[in-house]
Amino acid sequence: MIIMYYQTLSYSLGKNSPVHIGLKKPVIKPNYQIDLGDGYNTSIITIENHSGTHIDAPGHFIEGAKKIMEYSTDDLIFKNPIIIEVIKDGRELINISDIQNQNLKDYDCILFKTGFCRFREEDVDKYLTSNPGISPEAIAYIREEFHNIRCLGIDSISISPYGDSELAIKSHITAFKDGTSFGEPLLLIEDLDLNNISSQNKIKKIIVCPWQLEDVDSAPCSVIAEII
Ligand SMILES: [Zn+2]
Repeated sequence: MIIMYYQTLSYSLGKNSPVHIGLKKPVIKPNYQIDLGDGYNTSIITIENHSGTHIDAPGHFIEGAKKIMEYSTDDLIFKNPIIIEVIKDGRELINISDIQNQNLKDYDCILFKTGFCRFREEDVDKYLTSNPGISPEAIAYIREEFHNIRCLGIDSISISPYGDSELAIKSHITAFKDGTSFGEPLLLIEDLDLNNISSQNKIKKIIVCPWQLEDVDSAPCSVIAEII
């Protein structure tokens, strides 16, 4: 008998969640409170849309490009995901050489496990300021060679190391721009929780559920993996 289970690959979002430096800290403030004599509880939530585990759509870096709500449910379900373990330390990039000998033609989503997710608990400052990323060359290679890949995810706060804005622009634009040799623009999931999953796990399906927010480029999301 095949045992199948679900695992959440996204982090919960709270006022103490680490967010990319430069973003506003999440604020979750009780509004109506039973404690204070109100009839019910409600809270006011102020969160920048790239906080916590979130999915970047092309509109993040390209004006007028697709926003996350323009994707259908089918677009956000990946039936052939692969997890690739490429252990990276501070500020290192995933390069073409890390993926060159992988046959990726049967997959629709790559989750890169760099191992850096462990620092989110252990050393949050390191997690936010020394994160590894994916080189623009590796992104271009994937887009040119494997039009079947629709989404990249990483267990790091961003696909580009903190503080190098030129590289951040280059990596994101390479993922999002139209190009004759490229397939469809990619979706990017950042700040994934891959602590409890490895390339030994067979992931059958990934379901990404972004907050259904209108008029924003990208959104925080839940990521659920079906594992067999
Ligand atoms: Zn983002």
